[in-house]
Amino acid sequence: MPMITTRAGDFYPLHLLFKNASLLVDEKTEDLPDDQTISKCLEHLLVKDWFSEPEHAYTALLLEENAPAPAGYKFIPLRALFDEERPYSQKAARAHALLCWRSRTHFCSACGAPLQDDKFETARSCMMCSEQFFPTIAPAVIVLIEKEGSVLLARHSQKNTDVYTCLAGYVEHGESAEEAVAREVKEEVGITIQNIRYITSQSWPFPDQLMLAYKAEYKEGSFHLQADEIDEVKWFTRDNLPSIPKPGSVAHKLIMGLI
Ligand SMILES: [Zn+2]
Repeated sequence: MPMITTRAGDFYPLHLLFKNASLLVDEKTEDLPDDQTISKCLEHLLVKDWFSEPEHAYTALLLEENAPAPAGYKFIPLRALFDEERPYSQKAARAHALLCWRSRTHFCSACGAPLQDDKFETARSCMMCSEQFFPTIAPAVIVLIEKEGSVLLARHSQKNTDVYTCLAGYVEHGESAEEAVAREVKEEVGITIQNIRYITSQSWPFPDQLMLAYKAEYKEGSFHLQADEIDEVKWFTRDNLPSIPKPGSVAHKLIMGLI
């Protein structure tokens, strides 16, 4: 049985229909669409890509950006699935990450020939040189820094500029996740930290991160902000928090002291 199939008729009971990073659900119950609805959707809605994963028993479809929601259905942001765990949250995260990966994995980076779905692996393989390309996961670290009952939060200058959140960044080649935490903090705000402790991890398929969450304590140094990344950084007590990331994100859990 292939890991990924796009054979006509290879449809599975769980239907995950995406438009950008939104998922189609029933307007009232927020259940996933049933077989009949899917057939109707396929007649009327433009589909950019689709695949099934037999092992996980779902079918994922990516709709064109201008596709309207069919009557009785609505699109909800994929991020909303993290607020409140639902039976299909994990599969939706997986399916969305794979759709994103497929949308940018069309040609072999070794020889330039077109790729096709691999027959045996969750991968795409080159029709000319047989090179295989697997879905990538980018490890990223996020850290809550504490000092005498206060937490350090930053307002970023590029994205999500309306909230204060933890410092974060990608792990680079040759360093451990803990070293990445210390480096990112030093680079972004100029201070040194100590007692770096791993807390938990969370899949963050926007498009392909694995967030590794840490806590650490302030050690020394004064703030020197990385101009193109951080607009402002401040200590807050938990009874006087500013606007922070929404529930469901690991940043929210760290800041609220839930983990
Ligand atoms: Zn090739």
